Amino acid sequence: MKIGFIGLGNVGGKLAKSLLRNNFDLTVRDLDESLTDTLKDLGAKVAKSPKELAEQTDLIITSLPSPEVSAEVMEADDGIINGLSKNSIDADLAISTRWFKFGRDLFLVSSLQIGGEPWAEVLVSEHNDLASIEIAKARGFKCERCWHYEIEMSKNKQHPNICKRCEKVVLGI
Ligand SMILES: [Zn+2]
Repeated sequence: MKIGFIGLGNVGGKLAKSLLRNNFDLTVRDLDESLTDTLKDLGAKVAKSPKELAEQTDLIITSLPSPEVSAEVMEADDGIINGLSKNSIDADLAISTRWFKFGRDLFLVSSLQIGGEPWAEVLVSEHNDLASIEIAKARGFKCERCWHYEIEMSKNKQHPNICKRCEKVVLGI
């Protein structure tokens, strides 16, 4: 999957670097060339416009300062909409499971839910024009080794409080 990232400010820059560390094929775009240069040095490709970025990627993530800037990036002549191909829209449907698996590592959480009611009492929340982010305690048990919450834990008697993924590592399976 080729990922495009537009907006490399404080938050966006960190997320884009995290994508590169996770070996994603990344193309970036920002008006500030010093920001795109930094990402280019780390292995990202740089698009000349949002349109070009949309033409070359399957999934586009934006981290922009305001709804006005987002609209400009989407709708301008060289904007995202004019670069979306039929392929990129098709690919959009196929990404969800990979995205969820990656998303929980990206945000350092045990599971990621998009939309719907939270499954437990919300501990922290933040709301803005673009999205609401709510953090709740994960379902399941906390693994002693990796601190992820998992529904199914190891059944090994020597290591009862670790998750199945860590069980494989500990037992060398
Ligand atoms: Zn674990």
